[in-house]
Amino acid sequence: MKEKIQSLRRQIDVLNINILELLSERAEVAERIGEAQTTLGLSHYDPAREQEMLEAIVAANKGPFDEPTVKSLFKQIFQASMQLEDDHDKEKYLTSRTLDHEDTVVRVGDVHIGSNHSPVLIAGPCALESREQVLLTAEYVASKGVSLFRGGAFKPRTDPYSFQGLGEGGLRLGREACDQYGLKFVTEIMDPRDIGMFIEYVDVLQIGARNMQNFMLLKAVGNTDKPVILKRGLSATIEEWVMAAEYLLSAGNPNIILCERGIRTFEKYTRNTLDVSAVALAKLETHLPVLVDVVHSGGRRDLLVALTKAGLAVGADGIMIEVHPNPAVALSDNKQQIDFDTFDRYLEETGYHKKLSIKRHEVYGF
Ligand code: PEP
Ligand code: MN
Repeated sequence: MKEKIQSLRRQIDVLNINILELLSERAEVAERIGEAQTTLGLSHYDPAREQEMLEAIVAANKGPFDEPTVKSLFKQIFQASMQLEDDHDKEKYLTSRTLDHEDTVVRVGDVHIGSNHSPVLIAGPCALESREQVLLTAEYVASKGVSLFRGGAFKPRTDPYSFQGLGEGGLRLGREACDQYGLKFVTEIMDPRDIGMFIEYVDVLQIGARNMQNFMLLKAVGNTDKPVILKRGLSATIEEWVMAAEYLLSAGNPNIILCERGIRTFEKYTRNTLDVSAVALAKLETHLPVLVDVVHSGGRRDLLVALTKAGLAVGADGIMIEVHPNPAVALSDNKQQIDFDTFDRYLEETGYHKKLSIKRHEVYGF
């Protein structure tokens, strides 16, 4: 009897290999269909076709497996083939975290953003307003260990009659302050025609939420090798945000940093809703560093510490915050910027004064 079992098992071994060979052959054909569908812009999932195949299989089934079992086995095969086709589609995307793609680390001078580097802090006023305001803020944040200074010279304002920024004069001031205090300058570019001017003054180009799908701007910025912070659009899906990053990468710029800055929801207690799952998902789906702008997301000073902790807990590679010597008289976002004393407390309460100098895993254990 034992010998009989041995002999039957040898038959099963051969059949297993035959099934595997057939499955692999089937998968290759499915891949060819998938490629053709992708070329035609068609979906890989075709429920009518699945139904047709299942009916033919069930009709040909002579047992001993019953109909539900056969159906479930084949559905499993269909599912696996479709996964293969979807995975192939993703391979062409430069943002995609294919199995062997390591975390991108963007270097800004000697600051490393991404992977296991300690989370960065980008601080500075909403808008660059005057020489005094710019120099005072730059000096202060630099004295606290911050290396990246933010401040808008070209401001995307809802109201066309409100302060629009100092323009090139603001860029010049930002550069001067950063050089004086050993900072790197982060500022928003709105018009692709300004690229030459920005390159002269700026260390990191920011693409604002309102311009996330300005494709001409994305292409122009993608043509440079300057580090870029790409804000998520006000109502952009994660896919649209990642596709915007794809524009930058496909134009040749590998130094892309994503930034979640809150999205529009029905909530009124906050200016926007910080989408923490988007931060985690962007890190899962792409290899790019991801920041959290805790200012424009909540729009409230009393949320800055909590949102910072939340952002870092879901894996953010850094935080952006707005600091102003006297927020009450700020020419933009005066309700959400914080003064120097509050910034001090923020650093204390978030533990950021420590995070600025040591490795991420030493702070979080991951
Ligand atoms: C900013 O960071 O200055 C800004 C305008 O932010 P957002 O584009 O996210 O609104
Ligand atoms: Mn602002």
